[in-house]
Amino acid sequence: MTERYTTNDAGNPAPSDDQSLTVGPNGPILLQDHYLIEQMAQFNRERIPERQPHAKGGGAFGHFEVTNDVSKYTRAAVFQPGTKTDTLIRFSTVAGERGSPDTWRDPRGFALKFYTSEGNFDMVGNNTPVFFIRDPLKFQHFIRSQKRMAASNLRDHNMQWDFWTLSPESAHQVTWLMGDRGIPKTWRHMNGYSSHTYSWINATGEIFWVKYHFITDQGIDHLTQEEADRLAGADGDYHQRDLYESIEGGNYPSWTLKMQIMPFEEAKSYRFNPFDLTKVWPHGDYPLIDVGKLTLDRNVTDYHTEIEQAAFEPNNIVPGTGLSPDKMLLARGFSYSDAHRARIGTNYKQIPVNTPRVEVNSYSKDGAMRIKNVSDPVYAPNSYGGPHADPARAAEVRWFADGQMVRSAYTLHTEDDDWGQAGTLVRDVMDDEARDRLVHNIVGHVSKGVKEPVLARVFEYWRNVDQDLGKKVEEGVRGG
Ligand code: NDP
Repeated sequence: MTERYTTNDAGNPAPSDDQSLTVGPNGPILLQDHYLIEQMAQFNRERIPERQPHAKGGGAFGHFEVTNDVSKYTRAAVFQPGTKTDTLIRFSTVAGERGSPDTWRDPRGFALKFYTSEGNFDMVGNNTPVFFIRDPLKFQHFIRSQKRMAASNLRDHNMQWDFWTLSPESAHQVTWLMGDRGIPKTWRHMNGYSSHTYSWINATGEIFWVKYHFITDQGIDHLTQEEADRLAGADGDYHQRDLYESIEGGNYPSWTLKMQIMPFEEAKSYRFNPFDLTKVWPHGDYPLIDVGKLTLDRNVTDYHTEIEQAAFEPNNIVPGTGLSPDKMLLARGFSYSDAHRARIGTNYKQIPVNTPRVEVNSYSKDGAMRIKNVSDPVYAPNSYGGPHADPARAAEVRWFADGQMVRSAYTLHTEDDDWGQAGTLVRDVMDDEARDRLVHNIVGHVSKGVKEPVLARVFEYWRNVDQDLGKKVEEGVRGG
């Protein structure tokens, strides 16, 4: 076999791996040293814009296998009994930049792509079942409050608590974040949740509202604040390393997919708005139903092409699945694909990791970096054999909406408060030790730079969640 030799990007044999072309050994470098120039120019363009947010992350390939029969709820091929589907996952932190430590206290992204026989199905979830806000108009402001100040370029706890305490709907998620699950031990030791309510539609056209729960088979585990702080310095890529080494060692992590399923009509009279992203559906009301198992068993071979350029989006929905009236979800349908166009380029779906495993017959055409040929006819309707949309095959989920145009969160449900489920988490789910760690974490966080008038609101915020918790936080901060 011929020995492999270096080439330039056009495949021409490279003249050298280590010597530039000069006039004499110490002479000027010549402009016609194309290989040198190609190396320098390519290097200058290696980085693409990092994600805003969720910049730091890692992932792996695997497969999802359906182990139960949920065909009475969905006609989606990916969820039919026994179906096995190749998947890609990307875990991430939210606020940090690409080089930031894995162990900062933050929600974790849990983004999935299923390469199904009906096209790509994505779930851009988190390791938390709820979120900080319920209206997309606040999302940009929320993320800015978690990132860096304009003048100092520093992250700032006062800014974070200012936003949170002026946004009481954040209480459930902030309680969750300040608790043990705010710093998972590894990506393998956390759950993934759709958080949003989505929809399923079965073969007869019946619609259900659903929530996805990927429950870790490794067991939930966390790092204390002190362990995480130490690791942030000692091994900033701790979670990335753990995932990579686990899979390399044949220790394949897995998650069991369980669903909560609400009959379509029940949404109208449920005690709170089931499309409110700041709330869970209590298990007692909607028990978890087993669906299948997700296993990660293959590391990526090129981080840039398979993870950095991976593009997940909630609008990649397959027949049998759909969105819901959750305003945050509907806005994400636009913002994710828009972010990919801005960050990677308009033809990002032609990058192999984003390419579906089915034939693509869209009428999209041209644009920068388009690599697949388009054939005539380039318009529809046409008389020349171009593809026709098949609405029955698409099985689009539709619901009824009627009303005056408003800017309002007002709903007709009786329990649409901001504090209740946060209080339940503190009082009924956490044990004494977990509650002590919660107080410890909040006090530590608030003590780093939160000042009046935000500080007084912090104590009020926690009293609204739970009187005793608020008292302990105030004592801890004022006495500290
Ligand atoms: P349950 O007692 O049936 O469920 C409580 C759930 O809380 C557990 O199943 C577990 O979810 C999760 N949990 C356990 N410890 C912690 C912790 N330290 N931090 C965060 N979550 C934890 O009660 P309900 O379903 O009635 O929910 C009560 C509260 O539990 C909610 O207000 C919410 O804060 C929290 N919760 C509820 C979830 C849901 O979907 N119903 C999911 C996660 C949290 P898991 O099995 O998913 O690990």
